[in-house]
Amino acid sequence: MEERNGLRGTRRAVHSLSMRISFLGLGAIGAPIASHLAGPHQLTVWNRTRAKAESFASGRSVRVAATPGEAGTGAEILLTCLPTSAEVEQVLFGAEGAAAALVEGALVIDCTSGDPASSRRIAARLAGSGVGFVDAPVSGGVSLAEKGELTVMLGGGEAEVERARSVVALFGKRKVVHIGPVGAGHAVKGVNNALLAANILAASEGITALVKAGVSPRVAVETINASSGASFVTQTLVPDRVLTGAYPRSFRLALLDKDCGIALDLVHEMGVDGPVLAAVKAKMAQLRAELGEQADYMSPFAASEQAAGVSIRG
Ligand code: NDP
Repeated sequence: MEERNGLRGTRRAVHSLSMRISFLGLGAIGAPIASHLAGPHQLTVWNRTRAKAESFASGRSVRVAATPGEAGTGAEILLTCLPTSAEVEQVLFGAEGAAAALVEGALVIDCTSGDPASSRRIAARLAGSGVGFVDAPVSGGVSLAEKGELTVMLGGGEAEVERARSVVALFGKRKVVHIGPVGAGHAVKGVNNALLAANILAASEGITALVKAGVSPRVAVETINASSGASFVTQTLVPDRVLTGAYPRSFRLALLDKDCGIALDLVHEMGVDGPVLAAVKAKMAQLRAELGEQADYMSPFAASEQAAGVSIRG
């Protein structure tokens, strides 16, 4: 064990040296994640809308690549953070994709909340050219991403995960967990977010009803938060975003709907009876159709307020 620890220590030391890292996808969560890599490593970024990459690089020692392929050239580690696994496959294997440019021994770390089956397919394709793959979805939202305090859920082989650790540690200061083989990180992330969605939907319905019944919004929320129905949604999101009426846009509801689909696919694949998660998925899909692709994930509260003609402020 000591020898193993010693080996690990050596490996950590090697990988804490500056590496050539490329990051594809500077969206709401991708940009703050990438910001933690720029100092310790030689960072290249690529974003579909180039202006966002230019703005990210401005004032930092960061190179902007014109294509995913250019970002892949010379990269030891390549991170992706895109809406779904479909876009990950596109930027890796599509026209001017990064995969063809990666050399044997390179590692792809996918921070997308992707789906396990696609991740296994991507990993197998990359393995054909000696490139490793680790799924590394994150949790904690934009504010914790800015502080580098995300939870990171790793799926991959032991050796690849060990290599990924020093990189994800830079933004995963809350917790980094090796869940299992490729796709395991994406599976846990999908279920986690389906639970988040269930909480949002149930809390928006229940709190709206309480307010319509004449209970003060603040009293309702404070009482629940001192009781057994408390959750991250009621303890953090509702006070910060609903009671204040701030409703900032940080995570698209469309992406949460996608996560509910990943969780439900897993439930079905495993032959587990899942009527509650099926209902959550159906409601999320309905809200996505009604509110649009840009709506925030807390907008079910605003929709519920509007439908009931009440205001959850206080
Ligand atoms: P955004 O919608 O903010 O950003 C999406 C990014 O993907 C942008 O850089 C966008 O480029 C790029 N993109 C979209 N379509 C394509 C395409 N076809 N080809 C290439 N690039 C494309 O998403 P987030 O950053 O919020 O989310 C990214 C991932 O992280 C998702 O899987 C999400 O579920 C997950 N996540 C998000 C969290 C959050 O709080 N936001 C929290 C935890 C996980 P462009 O700038 O050109 O539009």
